[in-house]
Amino acid sequence: MNMELKVRRPFLNLGDHIQIKMPLVIEPIDRLGTPLVIEDDASITVDLYRIDDGWSLHAFGLVMVEVLCDRCLAPTKYAIPLDFHAEILEDAVMDDPEPGEQTPLWLSKKGWVDISARVREEMILKLPLKLICDEACRGLCAKCGQNLNEGSCDCEIDDTDPRLSPLAELKEKMLDTETEDPNRGG
Ligand SMILES: [Zn+2]
Ligand SMILES: [Zn+2]
Repeated sequence: MNMELKVRRPFLNLGDHIQIKMPLVIEPIDRLGTPLVIEDDASITVDLYRIDDGWSLHAFGLVMVEVLCDRCLAPTKYAIPLDFHAEILEDAVMDDPEPGEQTPLWLSKKGWVDISARVREEMILKLPLKLICDEACRGLCAKCGQNLNEGSCDCEIDDTDPRLSPLAELKEKMLDTETEDPNRGG
């Protein structure tokens, strides 16, 4: 899988600029154990400028993906905003990137550069940690799994805030002690 740009030396003269729209072709991205579904006609736009010692690249676009809502698991669309710059050096040496470093863009012998790995990295960077179908999504019932956006279920509604229950227990114990303390009275 690749997204190859032809940047052979005669292709551009110093100061020249071209714009190319490229279909998005990348290795699959896994999100929380589910593959990210990318819309079929996804593409990005690439601006390529000839500079002194190589090429300067600016890639941008909105990539529509389908994920599962983190609360209710319903399929949800999300547009990943892509916008990044990179430099392609003519004499770039292909080193393995250090951990945390971005994949370098390097030129093949035939004057092509493959930007698919870089585009994939940018997409992962721009994916929010939490993706929900709607701010008001009510999620699933913790007991029966009913999607509460579609309707309520017959599970008992427990009004007690679980964060308060240790306090409630303590209160009960104190009341018990007050009424049943054998050391009291006589
Ligand atoms: Zn949802
Ligand atoms: Zn339920």
